[in-house]
Amino acid sequence: MKAYIETYGCTLNKADSMIIEGILRKQGVKIVSTPEKADIIFLNTCAVKLPTERRMIHRIKQLDRLGKRLVVCGCLPKINKKEIRKVSDCTLLDVNSFSRIPDILKGAEGEFFSNRPEEKLLFPMVHKGLTAPIPISTGCLGSCTYCGVRFSRGTLKSYSIKDIRSACENALNHGAIEIQLTSQDCGVYGKDIGTNIIELVDEIVSIPGDFKIRIGMMNPNAAYELMPELLKAFSHKKVYKFVHLPVQSGSNKILKAMRRKYDKDTFKQIVHMFRERYKDISISTDVIIGFPGETEEDFMQTIELLKETRPDITNISKFYPRPNTEASRMKKIPTEVIKKRSVICSDVCRRISFEQNKRYIGKEWNVFVTEKGKKGNFIARAPNYKQIIVKKAKLGNKYRIKVVKAHPSYLEGKIEHLFRK
Ligand code: SF4
Repeated sequence: MKAYIETYGCTLNKADSMIIEGILRKQGVKIVSTPEKADIIFLNTCAVKLPTERRMIHRIKQLDRLGKRLVVCGCLPKINKKEIRKVSDCTLLDVNSFSRIPDILKGAEGEFFSNRPEEKLLFPMVHKGLTAPIPISTGCLGSCTYCGVRFSRGTLKSYSIKDIRSACENALNHGAIEIQLTSQDCGVYGKDIGTNIIELVDEIVSIPGDFKIRIGMMNPNAAYELMPELLKAFSHKKVYKFVHLPVQSGSNKILKAMRRKYDKDTFKQIVHMFRERYKDISISTDVIIGFPGETEEDFMQTIELLKETRPDITNISKFYPRPNTEASRMKKIPTEVIKKRSVICSDVCRRISFEQNKRYIGKEWNVFVTEKGKKGNFIARAPNYKQIIVKKAKLGNKYRIKVVKAHPSYLEGKIEHLFRK
């Protein structure tokens, strides 16, 4: 049998697709590169935002027209099954039912849903490339009023440090040079099993070898609880000095309406503590523009917070109501107002990112080239995970690179010499 896997969404979803491929290969299934060549198609969906959901529905219609068996998995089946059923009677597989894939291969059809998360790291996982997403937990401890993801991923289930270490070792043995510890909230990792992200990172940095570790997103409330010990988790040279803290809004009134469990001062304190400890730390955050009830003044508080904390990266999302969420029942702000505000926010963030990046012109580091870039370029990662675009490099090599130019979202580098093959 031949299978084709198409993946959308976050690092956790990418890791899920590597597990789906592992299970399929173990069942003797051949993985093919196009849906046309396949007998069965796995579409691993994302549904965090409405525009993404619409793209998924469009893709489902396209793939259905091929007349092959179609399995829609990922987050959409549990976030908005109704929309899928309007266009397709395909098989649905949620993120907790990978153990049913062999039955699906034997011909079982329908909907495979479960509220009991599986021990995902005990499934075979196929590693490709130099960067390896390793799920450390699924679910979260939040109940944010705008979020549909929790209907798909549920409540926090952490995987054991032992299983995570073996998954990392497996990835490194297959040639990975960058481990991406990923979950919905790395800050609450281990709360259900009596450990935490600090102890986990301690274990992973002890794995011999020259590789890098990226610690995934942490909600400010969870990160704050782990302070100041959390700072230590970033101290090892294997760990990128990069922290992703989604703040979502600079207005405490809106943070409350989002049920985000922290206020803007908490976010400021965390940013301050990281910057004081690591002067070149790269801070990434997320903001939602146009959450119901956001006044001009609330919006300006978000802009003020961004100007004050100067994030290196800001992922800006327009608010879209997600099905069955409390925020979907709140009075919406006119679309044109949301559009206007997100344009203003983009300009402010672009300027901040550019000024932050200019500070690195002339800097030199020994860094790995981990990915292919656009136009035949290559991507290396600075010690703080900033992208450095270089020409003529070899994937996996380590080079001495000098930053020669800055751009709002990346740095341009010149290879001084090969550091290690
Ligand atoms: S923490 Fe909030 S935003 Fe994140 S997955 Fe959980 S409910 Fe959604």
